[in-house]
Amino acid sequence: MTYKNFTVETDADGIALVTWDMPDKSMNVFTMEVMDEIEAIVDAAVTAAAVKGVVFTSGKSSFSGGADLTMIKGMFAMIAEEKAKDPANAVQKLFDASGRMSWLWRKIETCGKPWVAAINGTCMGGAFELALACHGRVASNAKSVKLALPEVKVGIFPGAGGTQRVARLTDAQSALQMMTTGQSLTASRAKAMGLVHQVVAPETLVETAKQMIKDGLKPVAPWDEKGFKAPGGGIWTPASAQLWPAAPAILRRETHGNYPAALAILKCVYEGLQVPFDTGLKIEQRYFTEIVQTTEAFSMIRSLFVSMQELGKGARRPAGIPKSELKKVGVVGAGFMGAAIAYVTAAAGIPVTLIDRDLEAATKGKAHSESLVKDSIGKGRLTQEEATKLLDLITPSADYADLKDANLVVEAVFEDREVKKAVIEAVEAVLQEGAIFASNTSTLPISGLAKNSKRPAQFIGIHFFSPVEKMMLTEVILGKETGDKALATALDYVAAIKKTPIVVNDTRGFYVNRCVFRYIHEAYDMLIEGVPAVMIENAAKMAGMPVGPLSLNDEVAVDLSQKILRATVADLGEKAVDPRHMVLIDRMVDELDRRGRKNGRGFYEYPAKPAKKYVWPGLKDFYPQKRADEVDVEVLKQRLLVTIALEAARTIEEGIVTDPREADVGSILGFGFAPFTGGTLSYIDGMGVKNFVALCEKLAASYGDHFKPTPLLLDMAAKGDTFYGRFDPYTVKKAA
Ligand code: NAD
Repeated sequence: MTYKNFTVETDADGIALVTWDMPDKSMNVFTMEVMDEIEAIVDAAVTAAAVKGVVFTSGKSSFSGGADLTMIKGMFAMIAEEKAKDPANAVQKLFDASGRMSWLWRKIETCGKPWVAAINGTCMGGAFELALACHGRVASNAKSVKLALPEVKVGIFPGAGGTQRVARLTDAQSALQMMTTGQSLTASRAKAMGLVHQVVAPETLVETAKQMIKDGLKPVAPWDEKGFKAPGGGIWTPASAQLWPAAPAILRRETHGNYPAALAILKCVYEGLQVPFDTGLKIEQRYFTEIVQTTEAFSMIRSLFVSMQELGKGARRPAGIPKSELKKVGVVGAGFMGAAIAYVTAAAGIPVTLIDRDLEAATKGKAHSESLVKDSIGKGRLTQEEATKLLDLITPSADYADLKDANLVVEAVFEDREVKKAVIEAVEAVLQEGAIFASNTSTLPISGLAKNSKRPAQFIGIHFFSPVEKMMLTEVILGKETGDKALATALDYVAAIKKTPIVVNDTRGFYVNRCVFRYIHEAYDMLIEGVPAVMIENAAKMAGMPVGPLSLNDEVAVDLSQKILRATVADLGEKAVDPRHMVLIDRMVDELDRRGRKNGRGFYEYPAKPAKKYVWPGLKDFYPQKRADEVDVEVLKQRLLVTIALEAARTIEEGIVTDPREADVGSILGFGFAPFTGGTLSYIDGMGVKNFVALCEKLAASYGDHFKPTPLLLDMAAKGDTFYGRFDPYTVKKAA
């Protein structure tokens, strides 16, 4: 029999080698067709007398990334469609559909012939669950091998037997930790946990897997043997009595109850370990059916899985422009940002010329890469050879003529219009035709800077976030005259350095900083009202933000806030800022020299390590303090999220952001907007625009006009619209 996505070759020993290699895909993923073919393969292996056992591997460099976008989208479409038709039946259908993979893997496990997974590369989600259902697991020791059940990161959990098998292969604590965080395991860590049997060199992988079968591997899972006991003895043991009462509390400390999927993992393991395996699978299937219907699962999958992949693959790239060949990139300004931009560019294999005012400054910029590379060698992430190759790609220089063959130049010089003007002119004097100039400015409008350019169609903003090596987002900013070629080149570059782009129109603060400063300014309001700073910071974390607003302000620098407030007054007049904010920040910066983490004193104190930072107690003396019981933490949480979401809605209303996927993904990757909501606009859609408007009106009555819902929101509420409905990114694209 032939298959579209698999080849099956049975050798003289009767071992069928099943190789998964999907045509037209760079990575194997689960689709309905793949599932059907696996089922057919299992049936054929069972009936063919000549087949003694099966080795399951991949023909690609990775094993599999798990579920496919189309399958996930199909599932949500099915839920919506069926619920509209017949709600009671819809849940039954969903229950059946979500059990398909689980029971197919169980069929492999109980088919009577031994199966061994030969894991040659990244093995994620459902694919790892398939491997766990095999009787043997051999993993390659290549660095690229990563095993994980990362579902919780997109609001769901391993629903194809993962919660039951992991908890029966390793101790409950490790199982919970692995699944509630979605962390990746190296092959050796997976072996130490008992999740794989052998770790071998890539070239002996299939041979070792076959040998397991030849050595008489029993086609029975440990939990199907009489007398099976889970590692650690299951639930009713003294060790479990230590673990289980603490587990929900630890989870709550980490997630503040915002992630129903993480709690469901706990329930699946706790309940599943007390019943026979098949009942455990059914428990998992029931919880999965419940979780997949939550707003959190829907919104997180849409933003963190579907949209992120679509944006990464160039959803906003103009059609018809050939892929840019980035033979060389120039970076001008080898300071804090430029040095890091040069590093990520070289790490993507692109030669970089790094320019500063003199060779010494440019060379100092390259030293940043040298120290990062040294660190990576120390951690075993890079070999000496790879490190040398990376560093050789960066050429420091003080001569603009060296940029003549660059396809793209990114400037990261001082945030000063005159300095930038001089740099734009100097670069354009040597730049080849068709090359693109990008500015990394964080506050200066791109259209204004482009006035200094002789070729504004080839002028664009590429706004990086610090630390550049870690932050996954870049904001690509279109000036009034920016052309499609510039946008395509910028997006090709962002894809090459493996970051996710959002494309926004020009405005003060672009998208991310506009939202971030709303968050910070709300905290200023709270301080001024006398809310204890610690409560503000804790409320932010309880709302799902990774960093409190005052801590974030310390990171970006309090004097930067002052600069921005002052620039806003200069450009837009006194009324554009809250004068009480100016007083607070002037006092912090001018009177007290509390500039943030960079000078070791801001809203927080930064004692010498290993002591931890703590909120500066002097803040208490700024304003008469409220008692904790006079403050409603729920309202603080709402204010912090609503003020950001409102700003995101304004950027859509003003046409700054045009695609809701970008507002959502940008908010999570740019400043960690409560990921369980799916991002700023999903937060609004998730509660319903009407409810959001009512919440805004309630907050506006007590906390100021900045909470007043905008005309767009009022109109949407009246019409029952959603952002994803009214600004549907898919029909917009089709219509364009
Ligand atoms: P920085 O002061 O660390 O670096 C600026 C560098 O530019 C210095 O090395 C300086 O010598 C060099 N330079 C100045 N004039 C030059 C000239 N005429 N020719 C060549 N080199 C020149 O500043 P930074 O923090 O790296 O910021 C650079 C740009 O990036 C600014 O536009 C800033 O707004 C933007 N930005 C900064 C951050 C951040 O977190 N710091 C984040 C995003 C964007």
